[in-house]
Parts: sequence; structure tokens; C-alpha cells
Amino acid sequence: MRDVIILGSGPAGLTAGVYAARAHLTPLIVDGHEPGGQLTLTTMVENFPGFPEGLLGPDLIRSMRRQAERFGAEFRQGAVTAVELGRPPFRITIDGMVEECRALIIATGASAKMLGLPSERQLIGHGVSTCATCDGFFFQDQEVMVVGGGDSALEEALFLTKFAKRVTLIHRRDKLRASKIMQEKAFANPKIAFLWDSAPEEIRDVMQQKVTAVRVRNLKTGAVTDRAVDGIFVAIGHTPNTAVFQGLLEMDAVGYITTHDGTKTSVPGVFAAGDVQDHVYRQAITAAGSGCMAAIDAERFLEHGGSGD
Ligand code: NAP
Repeated sequence: MRDVIILGSGPAGLTAGVYAARAHLTPLIVDGHEPGGQLTLTTMVENFPGFPEGLLGPDLIRSMRRQAERFGAEFRQGAVTAVELGRPPFRITIDGMVEECRALIIATGASAKMLGLPSERQLIGHGVSTCATCDGFFFQDQEVMVVGGGDSALEEALFLTKFAKRVTLIHRRDKLRASKIMQEKAFANPKIAFLWDSAPEEIRDVMQQKVTAVRVRNLKTGAVTDRAVDGIFVAIGHTPNTAVFQGLLEMDAVGYITTHDGTKTSVPGVFAAGDVQDHVYRQAITAAGSGCMAAIDAERFLEHGGSGD
């Protein structure tokens, strides 16, 4: 029986690990299917405080991991296939092996939806991005493309106009899904151009390991053209990694875990941190902050005999 199990090893899970380990709770951190989370898919991170020159996302994750290990956190690779959250001890099945814990921190994150193009996967972090707040700065005076027609895509496009020379929004239909107010803002912005009824078919140039152009198919006419761009932002939504908790914890309509009073979920003793419960801020630093909160909340829960009062 463990005091704390942490599911997920992105900034939220690892920060929870540092705090829980320093509180002598010897947490077990379960990596899941994407060890390190979304930061491992990015290159330079310039907005994580404390690193004035910036650092690579994977390096940031490695450092956090070492820090958690130094204080006694244990790591296990594997996917969580089942959980029993009726009341403590909670039972977690990791690749067929059952672990029990008195408190559980869920930091399984959210995954950005991708287009599914092989070139997209190969160029992620090299001109393909899913986060304008993180990477927009690198495209000063350059040409970028944003994929999607929802609020996220328009928010990314509007944000990118602060840096880019031109932002082309490519959408698979001829009507945006985004809210009226965001549409009005985007249509009024002279730096944003629209490419309707179209979809990226290939991102170039994998050989050069950088984005130079996007091959675009017009879905109505079938015509294919190459558009020269320096970067492409995929903003077609995120999926919270919560399938295994469905029906066990309160969630919103799209599956983000509902938290209250800090990181508490609908089950006492189960806490949630990072993108799995936050579809608004989605930053490494906010995820790390909520991971710290979850560890403190879990520690207090255990101190009170597992009652949470
Ligand atoms: P969303 O509303 O689900 O929009 C996703 C967009 O991506 C849609 O336009 C969709 O096209 C397109 N898309 C999906 N799969 C695609 C694919 N495989 N290829 C090409 N295009 C694809 O997601 P979201 O924009 O991330 O927003 C999620 C929620 O958060 C919404 O409720 C939104 O209002 C909210 N949000 C609000 C704000 C804000 O208020 N500032 C900012 C961000 C998000 P179709 O339209 O054809 O389906």
C-alpha cells in the first residue's frame, strides 16, 4: 500500500512528485503512454520562469524528473488500464499489475488533436506546433498557417498576428465554428487571411527538418497547391486523457475532470492537476503550479487520516 500514486509525468505530475517526495510520501509516478507529456513534443521553452536563455522542453522534463527522483519518487512505465475509486485504498491497474494507494493524483494531461500526417509528426517542434503561446515568438515577421475553425484556432491566429507577417487560417469548411465575437475579431484583423474548404495534405520539408511549405488540397475542387510558410499551428482541439476515469469522477461535457477547492475532485482522496482539469491556461508553469497544489492537498488529506476534512 502506497501513500500516493501520481498518474502522468508531465510538469504537473513531476512537480507533484517533487513535493510529495519531499514530504516523505515516496510517490509512485506512472508514466503513461506519453512520458513527459506535451513538453517532450516541443523544442525551445522560453516562458518557464528561471531560465532566462530558455531551455529545451525535453531537458526541462528531464531535470524535473531527476529532481523528483532525488527526493525518493519512484517511476513506473506503463499504461493504466483500470481504476477503482470507490473509497481509499484506491486500486490502480498498471499493465495488469494492481497497486493500491491512500491518495491519488491524476495528472494525465490532454493531448492536442493532430491531423495525422506523417510529415506533421516528423516536424513537430521544428515548425509544426500546437501552442502559439509557447512558440509564436519564434515566427517574427514570418508566414504561418493555423489549422482549424474553432475558438482555439482563432485565438492562436490572433495571438500570432503579434509576431508573424501574415497568418493564414485554413479550415475544412466555409463556415467557422468559433464564437461570433472571435470571428469578428479575426475578420477585422488585416494580418489574417482565410483559406476555406481546404486541408493540409503534406507539410514540407522533412529532409531539411524545417517547415518550408504546406501542400493544400481544396476539398471542393480537389485542386492541390503548395503554400510557402515558415510554420504551421495545428489548433483542432485537445482531448483530455480521462477515458479510464469515465463514470468514476465528475467531468465536464468534453471529459475534463472537475476540480474544486484547489485540486479536489468529486472523490475525496483523488486530486487532479494540470491540463487534465484545465482547458483554459494549458501552460507548463500553470500545470506545475497545480501539481504542487495537488501534492499539498494530498499530504493534508493523509494527515487528516484520509478523511479530507
Ligand atoms: P472545437 O470547437 O472542437 O473546434 C475544432 C475545430 O477544428 C473545428 O473547426 C473543426 O472543424 C476543426 N477540426 C477538427 N478536426 C479536424 C481535422 N481532423 N482536420 C481539420 N480540421 C479539424 O475545439 P476548440 O477550438 O479547441 O475549442 C474547444 C472548446 O473550448 C470550445 O467550446 C471553445 O469555445 C472553447 N474555447 C474557447 C476560447 C475562448 O473563448 N477564447 C478559446 C479556446 C477554446 P469543423 O468546424 O468542421 O468541425
